[in-house]
Amino acid sequence: MRATIADVSNGSTFPPHRRLRGTVLMALAALVVVGFGGWLALRSSGGDGGEPARAGQPAPSPSRPAGDAPGDGESRGDGGARGGDRTTGPGGPGHGQAEPRPHSGLEGRTVVLDPGHNLRNRDHGRQIAQLVDIGNGRKECDTTGTATEDGYAEASFTLDVARRARALLERQGVKVVLTHDDDRPYGPCVDERAAIGNRAHADAAVSIHADGSGIGDRGFHVILPARVTAGRADTSRIVGPSRQLGERLAGQFRAATGSAPSNYLGDGNGLDVRSDLGGLNLSGVPKVFLECGNMRDPKDAAQLTDAQWREKAARGITKGITDFLTL
Ligand SMILES: [Zn+2]
Repeated sequence: MRATIADVSNGSTFPPHRRLRGTVLMALAALVVVGFGGWLALRSSGGDGGEPARAGQPAPSPSRPAGDAPGDGESRGDGGARGGDRTTGPGGPGHGQAEPRPHSGLEGRTVVLDPGHNLRNRDHGRQIAQLVDIGNGRKECDTTGTATEDGYAEASFTLDVARRARALLERQGVKVVLTHDDDRPYGPCVDERAAIGNRAHADAAVSIHADGSGIGDRGFHVILPARVTAGRADTSRIVGPSRQLGERLAGQFRAATGSAPSNYLGDGNGLDVRSDLGGLNLSGVPKVFLECGNMRDPKDAAQLTDAQWREKAARGITKGITDFLTL
């Protein structure tokens, strides 16, 4: 490097014609610089100089590889959960502004994802124990949820899967609303979880959970709303479409994860019907619960704690929802 600088600075070592060529090259370079500056000035005077560049820019979220499994540290505490949001979500603070894929057919559709429980519920026992009206009775505002033997909380699992599914749905132009996103001291209560879907006029709502059953109880199941007409609850209009949503969700979840339907609940196809869940009773939009597996069973727990498996779960959920939306 030093020898090269010395060679260039010492012009006397070059014959005259090479010095001349150097001068010509420098003059040409100066012309190029001046010409480019003039071109820039012309473009900016046109007023829309920045538009083509912006249009040509790829949106940040669609470029994310599907196998990417960020946010794995989410379960290790609140700080990790926030960090996970920035990387798992489609473009962090800018999410929602990502350019949807053209012609997905899903632009303008709204999906509510409801991550079951809340990691902070355990610090707010009194608040979440308060009873709320679920139409045909009263029930706790919320519960802490379950956890694996090693302490991986259901609330961490549900939020992680919901964020992954949100990213996948938003890539297809779907508007996604989460009922909470590590942004509340506890809850929301089950009645509020339903209300969020209603207010959003969601085309579909899915409450994401993992079960806390006995060892040996394995597999996923989807909970469909029963027909309930009592007090504030009237599910008569959502029973049919919710079953359509649930059937597609079960099928695609099974295909994406390879998990079998529950061996301890439901009809063998992973479908169960319940009338005691406020989140379903109070929903005015098609809604189901998905119990992704049994956190208390070691084999299911090994899947639920695996970030790659959770990405598969999110893909299955996404496909089930989009199949329903394009019926
Ligand atoms: Zn749960």
